[in-house]
Amino acid sequence: MTSIKDQVVLITGASSGIGAVTAKRLAKGGAKIMLGARREDRLKELVAEIEKQGGEAAYKVTDVTDHDQCLALAQACIEKFGRVDTLFNNAGLMPLSPMASRKVDEWDRMVDVNIKGLLYAIDSVLVHMLERGTGHIINVSSVAGHVAMPAGAVYCGTKFAVRAITESLRQEVKGKVRCTIISPGATATELTDTITHDKVKERIGEVFKMAMDPDAIARAVEYAMEQPAEVAVNEIIVRPTAQ
Ligand code: NDP
Repeated sequence: MTSIKDQVVLITGASSGIGAVTAKRLAKGGAKIMLGARREDRLKELVAEIEKQGGEAAYKVTDVTDHDQCLALAQACIEKFGRVDTLFNNAGLMPLSPMASRKVDEWDRMVDVNIKGLLYAIDSVLVHMLERGTGHIINVSSVAGHVAMPAGAVYCGTKFAVRAITESLRQEVKGKVRCTIISPGATATELTDTITHDKVKERIGEVFKMAMDPDAIARAVEYAMEQPAEVAVNEIIVRPTAQ
C-alpha cells in the first residue's frame, strides 16, 4: 500500500465542502496539503485548523479560471513542499437551470470552472509529474457525469467532459501518472447555493435532504491514494444509499 503520510497533495476548491473535508482527512493521515480557492478567509481558517491538529498545510488564493493563477498555485506547492504527488482537482459549481431560462452567464461560469479550470490545474502539474515519473491526478466528476437530467444540460455536460478528459489522459500517461475519477452523488456542501433558478433550487433542495456527509468522498479519495503504485483506481461512484 502507499502511505498517505508525507504525500504532497494540491487541492482546488479547498475552501469548503468536499475539498475542505478531504484536506482535513488527508492532513490527519500525515499528508502535506496545498489549498487553492478564492475565499482567503476560509483557506486561512482551514490551515489554522489543520495546524492545530498537528497537520501541515498552506494556501494560495487561486481562481482556477485563470491559467496563470493555476500555474502559480502549483509553483507555490513545489516551493513549499518540494513537489506535487497528488492533484485533487475538485473546484466546481452547479447552477442548474432549464436551458430556456437563458442563464448564459452561468453556462459560461460552469464551462470556465468545471472544464477549463480542471484543465488548467492538470496543466499546472502534469509535466512536473511526468518528469518525476510518478504522480496521481484525481478529478471530480459527478453522478451527473453519468446520467443527464432536466436543468442539468450544462452541468451534466461539464461533468461528462471531466470523465472523457480523465480517461483520455489516463491512456496518455499510463505507467507514470495514475488517474482517478471520483463521481459523488448528493453530498451536503454549499454546492446547491449556486442554484439561482427558484423552482430548480426547491426541487434539488428536496433531493438533497438525503445528502451524505462529504467525508464519504474524502474516504474515497484516501482509498484511491492508498493503493500500491502499480494499482490505479480509475473511477469511484459514491452515492447516498437512498439515492
Ligand atoms: P462547495 O460549493 O462546497 O465547494 C466548491 C469549491 O469550489 C469551493 O471551495 C469554491 O471555492 C471552489 N470554486 C468555485 N469556483 C472557483 C474558482 N473560480 N476558482 C477556484 N475555486 C473555485 O461544493 P462541493 O464541495 O460539493 O463541490 C466540490 C466538487 O464536487 C465540485 O466539482 C462539484 O461539482 C462536485 N460534486 C458535488 C456534489 C454534491 O452533491 N455536493 C455531487 C457531485 C459532484 P471559492 O468559492 O472559495 O473559490
